[in-house]
Amino acid sequence: MSITFSSPDEADIEAVRQVDLTLTPGKTLALVGESGCGKSVTARAVLRLLDKNAEIRRGSIVFSPGDEPPTDIVKLKPDSLPLRAIRGNQISMIFQEPMSSLSPVHTIGDQIDEMVIIHEGLKPKQARERTVALLDQVGIPGARERADAYPFQLSGGLRQRAMIAMALACTPKLLIADEPTTALDVTTQAQILDLLRQLQADFGMAMLFITHDLGVVAEIADEVAVMYLGDVVEQGNVHDVFARPSHPYTQALMASIPKMARKADRVRLSPIKGTVPAPRDRPEGCAFTSRCPYAFEPCATVRPERTAVGNGHHARCHLLTRQPAEAVA
Ligand code: SF4
Ligand code: MG
Repeated sequence: MSITFSSPDEADIEAVRQVDLTLTPGKTLALVGESGCGKSVTARAVLRLLDKNAEIRRGSIVFSPGDEPPTDIVKLKPDSLPLRAIRGNQISMIFQEPMSSLSPVHTIGDQIDEMVIIHEGLKPKQARERTVALLDQVGIPGARERADAYPFQLSGGLRQRAMIAMALACTPKLLIADEPTTALDVTTQAQILDLLRQLQADFGMAMLFITHDLGVVAEIADEVAVMYLGDVVEQGNVHDVFARPSHPYTQALMASIPKMARKADRVRLSPIKGTVPAPRDRPEGCAFTSRCPYAFEPCATVRPERTAVGNGHHARCHLLTRQPAEAVA
């Protein structure tokens, strides 16, 4: 799947290039990268929530929940019934900022009741029972009383839990989580990650987890896809990618994680040299060329193939298929 941005006075940019991801029930795929690399846009594309100037011109997004025939989400008409059904019933999304899904002027109970009434056709009284059960399940203490609270009356952590309860009200097959813990303090962040893991075990949903934090990836993900400037440069099982990062960008990201093990030999952070170029300045070839310490002759002009480096572990780098010397000769 590729996403193109257009503007009236400049050439179109293919901001996300041939991203190929597979999500599995009960498993979490983390999409990781620096801000602006296309993670959120990719996630929003799954729900066709792209801005007007962005368009999926190539590829497909196949949603195949098992009990129904597969649907190509790209082919659905905007605002059509099937698309709304997928959004409301099958795929939910949570965000960094809970107030982007919670209404400030209604109690959280009323908001979740409404979801439950739409999705399960329950009467208001039964709906409230279900809401209280959901709030309880996401670890909101005193769920029955708290249901009458407005979002602003809750702490950041509780608001995040309320948003998760709302996302789960339709028992989604896929939960998309866009940096849901980024704005939280470390303790609350750990609790929310625990909660998401627990809920995934209970509900068996697939999860697409967007983050810029490799520590969070290690905590929550089964699979990881590393994005740089609209390209997935490496993907695979988390253990494989962490044990054997095969793309220079992944290697640089790994090297920039603070080693927390022992304070005595705290290693200096080695931030990646340079800054991410604007999508418009991305070379034809490897997206990482301008910052890569190993860049050689074909890198700027020839796009590296997706190359297998292990079982289900792939990377896009010319070093995996040719020697620099050979290319120069
Ligand atoms: Fe570096 Fe070239 Fe590999 Fe890109 S393809 S990561 S520029 S060596
Ligand atoms: Mg983002």
